[in-house]
Amino acid sequence: MNSEISKYIAGHTAVITPLHKDYSLKFWNLSLSGNEECEKELVAAKERYLKVYNNREEFKQVREWKASQVPIDELQARQLRLIYDAFVPNQIEPEILRDIIERETQIENLFNTFRAKFEGGEASDNQLREILRTETDIGRRRAAWEATKQVGHDVAPRLLELIAIRNSEARKLGYADYYSMMFELQELDEKQVFMLFDRLEQLSERAFGELKGELDAILKSKYRVNGSECFPWLYSDPFFQEFPTAGVSESLDDVFKDSDIQALTRAHYTSIGLDIEDLLQRADLYERQGKSQHAFCLDVDHEGDVRVLCNIRKNERWMSTMLHEFGHAVYDKYNDRTLPFLLRTPAHILTTEAIAMLNGRMSKNPEWLIKIAGLSQADAGRLSKSAFKTLRSEMLIFLRWAITLVRFERKLYRSGGENLNRLWWEYVERFQKITPPPNRDQADWASKNHLATSPVYYQNYVLGELMASQLLRYIHREIAKPDGYVENPEVGFYLIENIFRPGARYDWNTMLRRATGEDLNPQHFVAQFVEASA
Ligand SMILES: [Zn+2]
Repeated sequence: MNSEISKYIAGHTAVITPLHKDYSLKFWNLSLSGNEECEKELVAAKERYLKVYNNREEFKQVREWKASQVPIDELQARQLRLIYDAFVPNQIEPEILRDIIERETQIENLFNTFRAKFEGGEASDNQLREILRTETDIGRRRAAWEATKQVGHDVAPRLLELIAIRNSEARKLGYADYYSMMFELQELDEKQVFMLFDRLEQLSERAFGELKGELDAILKSKYRVNGSECFPWLYSDPFFQEFPTAGVSESLDDVFKDSDIQALTRAHYTSIGLDIEDLLQRADLYERQGKSQHAFCLDVDHEGDVRVLCNIRKNERWMSTMLHEFGHAVYDKYNDRTLPFLLRTPAHILTTEAIAMLNGRMSKNPEWLIKIAGLSQADAGRLSKSAFKTLRSEMLIFLRWAITLVRFERKLYRSGGENLNRLWWEYVERFQKITPPPNRDQADWASKNHLATSPVYYQNYVLGELMASQLLRYIHREIAKPDGYVENPEVGFYLIENIFRPGARYDWNTMLRRATGEDLNPQHFVAQFVEASA
């Protein structure tokens, strides 16, 4: 049986390798020029790829092997597990799968095309967000905030139907519900993750309260608001997931207004001993008509063809985004070519996010601003306090928002749709300390597109931030003592040997334990951003 399994894995890899490459190239082509021809080719490539994982007989065999506990070597067991995880979600009946995809696409389209009724006319989501960023009249802010929630009314019934279908399909596959299935397929232990979130909630309670008190005072005086309530239209985005920088702390955009962002990215990675010259050659970094407006990194073949797409502008956000995306890229580039194809990937979404976040945070790091961005001591001294304060505020605000969303999403899959509108505001009030609008009974939660389009995913962002902090503190303690990071090639060497080269040969927590000597530990994030005061 052992040799049968290894023969199967080899055969499967031979089938999937070219299909993966083909799909990636089609995805890249579409991102560069969004024409219909490219879109058709991408859909066809995706179908060819997914068809492999739709095969029932093959899945049955893989499941038997997985359950049989035959002694096979470590790398084979790991590959078998990853193959199994890829099969599971594609075992849904083809008609139902098509129905699910249609429903998801419909909701996505609804988000893209919805125009809210506002001030006697219509307004796009971007227009409403712009008002929340800049308007000082509190009445108009409130109207704009309310308008951003209108889409939820249309989305909610469709999303609840979709969730019921996702749940019933997961049950057919032997899981308690879709939420449990997704946690298991992502190799996340639900109990542990929620215990972690509990701890993070408690540990950040006071710091978040203080930060928010300060922020509220500034915003209330800016908008001439009296009273102790903090209604959601006080903040610069519809969910209070971002730190409203404008007018609250000094922006770093001035630092980068004449910078060569690409050169700074190169300088950063070179300084930690990682060569990104080939990655820059393959990247597509500047705005162009018809090109995707997002930023991403794509590992085309697991053999070094790694491509980054960005739309660089000379501001802090793009500096940070470039550092972030090239973090994903070095992870992919420096894989171990002696590992089998299926294991030449990051251990988990959260581990590649952690590397990206660790480097993306640097554009607000005082040491980085001096050593890499070339700021004078005086400028850095003046800016470093506000740079750290901004980063810390961003982290705390995002953390409390993520706790709200992750907790709510679990209820969404297990509640049968009861009292969701009320529950949403209970969570928002408890975790984000926002005053619920009086007598509000609307599906405000459904206006968050992630719930429909990236289900059961948000926890990975938080886990990624935790791992980023854990790595940084390990590096400070053991690699670039004391408290160093940039201008230290040892850092890159450590990352290559302990994070990048192991790929997916271990599950993410085993890899992390081997790399840092401990399991994922929220204490490092807490020490860096919660306990530290600006
Ligand atoms: Zn990322």
